[in-house]
Amino acid sequence: MTDTKLITIATRNAHKAQEIAAILPPHFTVRTLADYPALPDVEETGTTFAANAALKACGISSALPGLVLADDSGLCVDALNGAPGVYSARYAGEHGNDAANNAKLLADLRALDAATPTARFMCAMCLAEGGHIQAEFIGKVEGHITLTPAGEHGFGYDPLFVPCGYTCTMAELPAEEKNRISHRADALQQLIAYIRSSEA
Ligand code: IMP
Repeated sequence: MTDTKLITIATRNAHKAQEIAAILPPHFTVRTLADYPALPDVEETGTTFAANAALKACGISSALPGLVLADDSGLCVDALNGAPGVYSARYAGEHGNDAANNAKLLADLRALDAATPTARFMCAMCLAEGGHIQAEFIGKVEGHITLTPAGEHGFGYDPLFVPCGYTCTMAELPAEEKNRISHRADALQQLIAYIRSSEA
């Protein structure tokens, strides 16, 4: 039998935390920053997803016991030279305003007259303990942006993103399907393989 492991997901984003918790194997006891309301936020000053994930994982794990897993993720649109990228959460200015971010993305793409712009969701994950990085993973899912938002599931840019091989948006997929194909699932599968090999 595998020992229970405590892991804190370094996020206050309930959607992200839910998706990660749903994919992690059951022997993980999952906490999030919601369990530590007094802990100050780590500033995301990096210029890459990996740098921001490392900042969050190291910063939080120096203050908490056990493993800390940070996810820094976002959407990169080729026609916008990779934007919104690391600024995905605050593309329209206010952090975490999904409706405003989506409206700005659509306005930017309409101004470019881009019909089906190619894009990808990226997810950098960093696992740390005691302020030190243990492992880092990058996940992605390729697709394109639709100028006609659709779907109620997921969060963020999901209503605008059509994954390769699908004719509907990420927000139209049931949670189980998104959790099978997403950038986050890709990074988490690598993390799970790493943890299994270090437990063997
Ligand atoms: P972070 O919290 O700094 O990593 O920013 C993540 C931002 O990227 C979110 O606020 C969303 O705008 C976007 N994002 C990341 N993952 C997803 C996803 O799975 N679906 C839709 N948008 C996402």
